[in-house]
Amino acid sequence: MAQKTDAGKKTKKATPSAKKTTTSAKKKPRARSYQFKAETRQLLDIVIHSLYTNKEIFLRELISNASDACDRLRFEALTDPSLMDGAETLEIRLEADPDARTLTIEDNGVGMSREEVMANIGTIAKSGTRELVQKIEEGESSESLEQLIGQFGVGFYSSFMVADRVTLVSRRAGEEKATRWESTGDGRYTLGEDHRFMRGTTITLHLKEVDSDNGIEDYTDFFTVQGIVKRHSDFVGYPILMKHQREETERDDEGKEIEGSAKTVIEDKTLNSMKPSWTRPAGDVTDEEYAEFYKHISHDWNEPLDTLSLRAEGRIEYRALLFLPGKAPHDMYFRDQKFGLQLYVKRVLVMERCEDLLPPYLRFVKGVVDSDDLPINISREMVQQDRIIGQMRKWLTRKVLDHLAKIEADDKEKYLKLWNEFGRVLKEGVGFDFENKDRIVPLLYFQSSADPEKLTSLADYVQRMKEGQEEIYYLSGDNRAAVESSPHLEAFKEKEYEVLYLVDPVDEFAVQGITEFQEKKLKSVGKGTVELGTEEEKKQAEKELEEKQESYKDLLEYLQKALDEHVKEVRLSNRLTTSPVCLVGGEFDMSPQMERILQQTEGLGAMGGPQKRIMELNPKHDVLARLQEKFAADQKDPVLDDYAHLLLGYAFLAEGSELPEPGRFNKLVGELMVKGL
Ligand code: ADP
Ligand code: MG
Repeated sequence: MAQKTDAGKKTKKATPSAKKTTTSAKKKPRARSYQFKAETRQLLDIVIHSLYTNKEIFLRELISNASDACDRLRFEALTDPSLMDGAETLEIRLEADPDARTLTIEDNGVGMSREEVMANIGTIAKSGTRELVQKIEEGESSESLEQLIGQFGVGFYSSFMVADRVTLVSRRAGEEKATRWESTGDGRYTLGEDHRFMRGTTITLHLKEVDSDNGIEDYTDFFTVQGIVKRHSDFVGYPILMKHQREETERDDEGKEIEGSAKTVIEDKTLNSMKPSWTRPAGDVTDEEYAEFYKHISHDWNEPLDTLSLRAEGRIEYRALLFLPGKAPHDMYFRDQKFGLQLYVKRVLVMERCEDLLPPYLRFVKGVVDSDDLPINISREMVQQDRIIGQMRKWLTRKVLDHLAKIEADDKEKYLKLWNEFGRVLKEGVGFDFENKDRIVPLLYFQSSADPEKLTSLADYVQRMKEGQEEIYYLSGDNRAAVESSPHLEAFKEKEYEVLYLVDPVDEFAVQGITEFQEKKLKSVGKGTVELGTEEEKKQAEKELEEKQESYKDLLEYLQKALDEHVKEVRLSNRLTTSPVCLVGGEFDMSPQMERILQQTEGLGAMGGPQKRIMELNPKHDVLARLQEKFAADQKDPVLDDYAHLLLGYAFLAEGSELPEPGRFNKLVGELMVKGL
């Protein structure tokens, strides 16, 4: 408190609190009226009329913004100290007027220019607004409205849950003019010039009637407000001040009240403890306190799924408080999505999003890192090269991965929740982080033939492997149904060998980075040759196949020539039990799925045209024997060429690929249909 008055005296400028008229009511230039963008209006409507039961969180959101504004000023002042303008004590002030039924939230942070007010307050500039509104309107989501909105975080607008009218006056640090914004939340807002004693922002809420049944309390009451601040904003690093009025009487030496000494004392109370959550020992902080802190830094209104309080001791010492969110942010896969932990140096925020403290595949982790060993004016460029940051990243990455492994081992249900939200991002790590590959691979989960309802880890797969099975089998495809009906699986089904279904496009990229798991090779059932069973069975099957291959040699050669444009080899195999034919890749070829993805991103030209596949025929299928008869009778019979193309088309369709010559295939099928009748 003393510090505050000092700052005030030194500069002969009051802190925003000292004078009531920081926003003077001198003649105001006329304000212009604007309309909210359609999405903003819709979202605002949803917020105001939303089912949001916990209305008091509006204060948390406004304080959070005020605290961000103070952070930003402090940060900008590192390079331009004149912005402080002598008033270095940053604070947030609440002022209630029970008669006028207003609550004012004021900060002396960075403030906003007119353009910034328009951009930040007049619109919801977040990418994905339209998608969110659409999702809500269609009501297709299973999530509750509150969860959806919460995840999106429409901070400032939450004030309309408790206020009929909101006025904001803001003056950007370093600028003279202030801007006044006002709205009743009905689709329009006005914007005009105003006066403000110094930089910062004042938000005045013209409160709705108290309506406890609908969660609207009396927010002009000191104790109500104090309680809300304690609950949601205790850790905020700037004092949140509010005037408190009490009666005081003096007492004499014997402790008796001196008559006539009663007087009213009005004093500033600091409502928050200001203790940053990460500097407190983990055991001292409650889950609720962690959750509130998480909401502040993540702008998410929902609880985190897990909290990780870390302390590195040794040559470099620092603390980290990390959170695993309960839901992926709606913009996780947007290209311009910004991520990163907050970086503090000696309790001062120096970087809002430091991307170098965790690798991109852990970008879903939120939190703060606080170090005493970094320079306070560290720049983005310095961070990228800083050796200490590099060490922190290594350590933090490992800690997060170990923690994920612990959840995976201890609480499968919780882990699967995480996996469903962030698995796709985590998978990127296999190809990205060679050093930690052995930590990442056990964290991966896949669909599998073992159970249509459950995902499986590789470790669980290995547990279930059949006797004699030496490899981990997988097959990629567009979706479960397509993979399940693929002819490639026939022999595996017969032997009851489990096959992983890679139905997410990134699965295959991930799996390519894993050659082995627990000394078991990973093998695509759509590539190379297949022999299943015990050593003896395999040898026997191989021998039989070779003999058959020899007896069908000429026919196979004929088919190969007829289909030369599309396949590089025609051979017999034991892969099939009921289907006559399928296409496979060579041991090192791309799968058709992978080929399609690359084709979409790179263009086919870049890959030198489509790869030729290998056609495998089922020696047990009747069609082969019949073709052999025809071939023996007359090698020039045109029906042979027709059947070559019928088989090719069949194989493409069976694996869910597009036909290379759909017109020709249809014509052949049409003719067959007539013959069959
Ligand atoms: P978020 O905080 O998630 O960005 P909000 O709706 O809470 O979303 O705020 C929107 C934007 O308005 C903020 O990002 C900030 O740029 C600006 N803003 C809000 N309140 C203030 C304030 N008190 N001082 C300066 N800027 C503010
Ligand atoms: Mg906010």
